[in-house]
Formats: sequence, structure tokens, C-alpha cells
Amino acid sequence: MAVPFVEDWDLVQTLGEGAYGEVQLAVNRKTEEAVAVKIVDMKRAADCPENIKKEICINKMLNHTNIVKFYGHRKEGTIQYLFLEYCRGGELFDRIEPDVGMPEQEAQKFFQQLIAGVEYLHGLGITHRDIKPENLLLDDRDQLKISDFGLATVFRHNGRERLLNKMCGTLPYVAPELIKLRVFHAEPVDIWSCGIVLTAMLAGELPWDQPNDACQEYCDWKESKHYLNPWKKIDSTPLALLCNLLTENPNSRMTVPDIKKDRWFTKPLKKGLKRHRVCSGGATETSEVFSKHIRSDADKSLLLHSDEKTKYSSTQPEPRTALLTWDSNASNIDSLVQGKGYSFSQPACPENMLLSSQLLGTPGASQNPWHRLVKRMTRFFTNVDAESTYNNLKDTCEKMGYVWRKGCANQVTLSTLDRRNNKLIFKVNLVEMEERILLDFRLSKGDGLEFKRHFLKIKKKLEDIVAVQKVIVSIT
Ligand code: ATP
Repeated sequence: MAVPFVEDWDLVQTLGEGAYGEVQLAVNRKTEEAVAVKIVDMKRAADCPENIKKEICINKMLNHTNIVKFYGHRKEGTIQYLFLEYCRGGELFDRIEPDVGMPEQEAQKFFQQLIAGVEYLHGLGITHRDIKPENLLLDDRDQLKISDFGLATVFRHNGRERLLNKMCGTLPYVAPELIKLRVFHAEPVDIWSCGIVLTAMLAGELPWDQPNDACQEYCDWKESKHYLNPWKKIDSTPLALLCNLLTENPNSRMTVPDIKKDRWFTKPLKKGLKRHRVCSGGATETSEVFSKHIRSDADKSLLLHSDEKTKYSSTQPEPRTALLTWDSNASNIDSLVQGKGYSFSQPACPENMLLSSQLLGTPGASQNPWHRLVKRMTRFFTNVDAESTYNNLKDTCEKMGYVWRKGCANQVTLSTLDRRNNKLIFKVNLVEMEERILLDFRLSKGDGLEFKRHFLKIKKKLEDIVAVQKVIVSIT
């Protein structure tokens, strides 16, 4: 895939991968500005070219602190580039410890920010339709930003609401009416997935595969069996909120104004507050996480029906002025977005640029943009050289039954099935940094919590070569 770069802007790292392309970090060599570039190959998305247009159009309408800023887009041949605010804090997923969650005070802060973003979206008549921790990013001040408007749609226009009928989202996060009913209201569906996100933050696991009567965990929840996992890990005040969010009947489900008045939502929580009900140990068979994207390629093509298309184009706004007024360096972003007369250059494998010696940070070069990696928990330094790291990783992973595929330069792809027999694919990059080897794991396909469980298992098996002192949480 030809990836053009505007002069002075380099694609330095892969931030993530999606169904139709990837997201790269672009850094301006002179000003050190950082921008996330979502690169979508329209050839791969040929079955639903409307989706990317819709994503761009909806992005243009948005301007809120809890939503990833959109700077603009451009098309080069069959490739669409979307320029987005770079969220240095990574995914909310990385703050969730499998089977544990995160401190209640942190979960409350993120939940308040999520609801602020959702309130804004709903106020504009837009529904996200795929709220989950992978689509909730964090900036360098840990402010939550709703991201990925690939499935978003307009449900209210000129004060008139339309009911939705498309099945889309991610099964463990979707509301029951989406599975059961032919048509449903948009807002309660987003509220439901906010409830699942809150459960994941407070318990480190998803409560069920999908909310229907064939699913035992869901039936247990409806029968208020709160003595079971994940509920028994959650304190009674947030649990009361969850009961009102994860209510089967969408008409009795809490609305945003109700949530804003809730006791736990408004409760001042002390930093580092321990939760009353302590995690009782590992996940049980019934509390395993199941993740199945409904958004397969075929399903994606179903997302836009003619009715949606009409409403969508009629709400297309003028290009956002934020691009022009963003900050004193807006002209740099402008040049990136518009590419006026600039030449392009491209490294062979951008994610390996950190290996190139001229890009490696000199000691104390914390200001070096190449070091501005996303805060992530799925990486560690080793205490052995590159060759030994590679061999150890290969032996361990093969013994553990992963399918091992050597990729571009210093990258390998590992695939397996998770506990629910869903495909789990992730990549490991071997990055040389400050004379050490960093093993950087990144999810390609599958459930994020399962991925983290696998990462922890591999890390445990490799404990002899894991460098103990240098735990990377942030390289800023
Ligand atoms: P999917 O098919 O899984 O929905 P997608 O093609 O729609 O993916 P995104 O969800 O937008 O792509 O991005 C994929 C990943 O890239 C995210 O989960 C995140 O890790 C990373 N990412 C996306 N946007 C940004 C950003 N603005 N800043 C930092 N990282 C980002």
C-alpha cells in the first residue's frame, strides 16, 4: 500500500489496526506536532465505500472535549487519510486489568467523561453504535475521547427522530432490543453499552456473550443473582447504577439526565479508594469474555440503507473551522491535510522506524518525538539481546500452541483461539531502544481483554528474560 507522507511529516508508529486499514502516528520533524492518521484502503472497503464517507461526514460535525478531534481528510488514489487528534494515553482498554478492573474513582471519572461525550452526540442527533473500551481513547492528561465513528449514524434530524433497524455494534456490548426487536430507539442502545463499559471498568470482565435468553449469564443478571461474578466484585452504589443501565426494557432504562443525577455518578470519591467487594480471584467459566464483531464485511454493507443515506447527506455540514483555528501550528496540520505541493517519502516499514539508529533517542532525549509512544501496558523490556529475545519468544509461543508467522522485519504475528473459540490475532514487534529490546504486543483481531490475558500468560512464561526494573507505562 503506497502511503504518501507530506514533507516534514513522518509516519513513525502503527497505533492500531482496523477492519479496512490502520492508524499511524504522524510526527512533524520540525515542530514535533503529533497527529493520528487513519488510513483506509478503499479497495479493501470496496463493498461499502459509503461507510468511510459517512465516517468523515459525521466527524466533521463534531467538536467536544470528550470526542477525538477531526482535522480533515484527503484522498490519494484509492487511499483515504483521516487526520485525527493523537490520543497519547492509548485505549481505555489498557487501563482495565483483566478480572480486576480499575480503581473506582478512576472508573467514575472515565464514566462521567463518557457520558459527557454521549450527551453531546445525542444532542446533535448522532448515535455512535459501537461504544466499547477499544473505541475510547485517552489523551496525555487522561481525558477520555470517544473515537471511531465508522458505525455512527444520524437518528434525529430537524427535531424528528427515526427508529433504527440495523444490527450493528459488538455483541457483548449491544442492547437486548437490538437482537430482539425489529426497530428500536437509538439513544438507549448507546446507554446500554456505556453500562457494559462501566462493568468492564469495575470488574475487568464482560458480563455475557450477548444479552439474550439463551445466555445463562444474562438470565442470571435478570434474576438479580448479584452474588455471581462480575457483580459480586462491584460495590452496591455503582451496582445500583448498573441495574438501571442494564435494564432490559429500553423504556425504563436510565437516560442521560437520569444518569447525571445518580448517587454514584455524583458521589465525590477519594483517590485510590479501594472497592468494598474485593475480586475473588480469577475468572470462572461463566465469567469469561466473549467478543464477536457483528461488523463483518458483509454486515457492514448492510449498514447504509437508502433512508439513512438521504438523512445523512442532508445533514452534511460545512467543513469544520477547527482546522483553521486549531492552534498556532494549524498551518502544519493544514499542510498535512491538504498536501499542497509537498513531496512524499516513505520508509519501507514505518512501525520499525524506531529501530533505525538516527531515530533512536539519545540518553535523556525525552523530548524526542520518536519517544512519544502511546502509554500501553502490553509491552516490556527484556534483559537479553535481540536474537535471544526472538528465540525465547518463538520457543515459548510455539510451546503454548500459538501459530507463529514471521512478518515484516522485526514483527511476528501470533494467532490462536480464545476461551470462547473466537479468533485472536496479535502482533509482536521487537524494538531496540536505549540498547535494550522492547517486546511490544498489539491486538490485530479479537477481544481486547482476552488479548491482555494472553499477553500476561506469555509474559509470565518469559519472566526469566523480562527486565524487572524498567516497566514502561509512559515514555513521554
Ligand atoms: P475497527 O475495525 O476495529 O473498528 P477501525 O478501522 O475503525 O477499527 P479505529 O477503531 O478508528 O479503526 O482505530 C483502531 C485503533 O487505532 C484504535 O483501537 C486505537 O488503538 C488506535 N487509534 C485510533 N485512533 C487513534 C488516535 N486518534 N490516537 C491514538 N490511537 C488511535
